[in-house]
Amino acid sequence: MESQERVFIAGGGPVGMVAAAQLVRAGVPVTVFEAGAALSEESRASTFHPSTLDMLDALGAAAPLIAQGLKAPQFQYRTKPDGLLAQFDFGEIADATKHPFRVQSEQFKLTRILYDRLHGEPDFEIVFDAKVMAVEQDTSGVTIGLERKGGKTESRRGRWLIGADGARSEVRRALRVEFEGFTWPERFLVVSTPYDFHAAIPDLVHVNYVADPERWHFLLEIPGMWRIMFPIPAEVSDETARSEDYAQAMMAGVLAGVTGYEIVHTTLYHVHQRVAGTYRKGRAFLTGDAAHVNNPLGGMGMNGGIHDAVNLTGRLAGVWRGEMPEGELDRYDSQRRLVTLEYVQTQSIQNKRNIENPDGGFKDLIRAIAADPQRRRDYLMRTSMIASLRRAAELG
Ligand SMILES: Cc1cc2nc3c(=O)[nH]c(=O)nc-3n(C[C@H](O)[C@H](O)[C@H](O)COP(=O)(O)OP(=O)(O)OC[C@H]3O[C@@H](n4cnc5c(N)ncnc54)[C@H](O)[C@@H]3O)c2cc1C
Repeated sequence: MESQERVFIAGGGPVGMVAAAQLVRAGVPVTVFEAGAALSEESRASTFHPSTLDMLDALGAAAPLIAQGLKAPQFQYRTKPDGLLAQFDFGEIADATKHPFRVQSEQFKLTRILYDRLHGEPDFEIVFDAKVMAVEQDTSGVTIGLERKGGKTESRRGRWLIGADGARSEVRRALRVEFEGFTWPERFLVVSTPYDFHAAIPDLVHVNYVADPERWHFLLEIPGMWRIMFPIPAEVSDETARSEDYAQAMMAGVLAGVTGYEIVHTTLYHVHQRVAGTYRKGRAFLTGDAAHVNNPLGGMGMNGGIHDAVNLTGRLAGVWRGEMPEGELDRYDSQRRLVTLEYVQTQSIQNKRNIENPDGGFKDLIRAIAADPQRRRDYLMRTSMIASLRRAAELG
């Protein structure tokens, strides 16, 4: 089979599309194979961190994303009995980022922005209805097996493969890479409502975490909508948890005396903490949810995946142009895998423990952090994911 002088990317989600945009910008020809008939319309991630916005800026994607989202410079921790516990402001780390705020926007808006920029570029190709099912490689290239519409199969051969095909990655399976970790017993329910929470809680900001031992939740705002996420105990069936009555019962606990919310949609998620045993196998790489999954508290899954894509494609473009040795690609695995374990996994697990156990020391801790300028700065550097990027760079 004729080998194409291209990098193949499995998956046109936010991570795959950032990888494609990075490579095309560097003059590397790319083909994205997307299993769906079009780019996904899923909203899932809604938080883009300052560090990620700085990266998207280089692709010309930060400004349109900001224009379509909400700028959120502050975030809060609260409990229902105490009200506001602590508020943090990214303005305090404006010396470390060009974007001292989160952007609250659905993840599909980013993939559309990138697609619109890439469409028509000679080095960019995207193939829809093309599910990567098999991967074989030798020293000069990678051959992928595709499942096309109507069950037809097809093979293509390119030079490198980036697996950005999500948590159930076929690329990871085909490479026989373990996905080590665990699944939480509870699921998370996300309820979307246009209810005006600013009118009900005047000091609320766009991003608010409400700690509670039984019914913790977050209140995150995106344009025209609030997303409220609750934990659902293992004994409640999926069917019950997805019902309107159940969502209304959960929402009734948010504000005293308010019931009968307008609910636009609800989504139930299983939640995992898992990291791939390696991010590189020869000429194939794992990125984004194909490489790691974590609970959404702190909004680090997609952001970390975009950081993977930028780290990997910078090296891959260097190798492609003959400016870097191939061994450079191993640093992608050593840097990104380590910071996923040290930062994203540790922090997201800690965030969950904090929000579900405010009286176990968290209330005092978060108030103490907010009251101390140095600890506050360290905390902001960590939550903005700038600290994890600096740690990766230190590893050399
Ligand atoms: C409730 C919730 C809230 C979240 N909030 C945040 C947040 O605020 N911030 C954050 O950073 N993260 C958040 N996340 C996590 C975030 O959604 C994921 O980390 C992110 O979607 C990962 O992007 P990805 O491109 O790696 O994978 P995906 O978004 O899953 O995209 C994978 C793409 O690959 C395609 N595909 C799948 N299999 C194949 C195949 N075999 N061949 C070809 N194509 C294939 C799919 O159709 C899809 O288009 C949240 C998750 C949940 C559940």
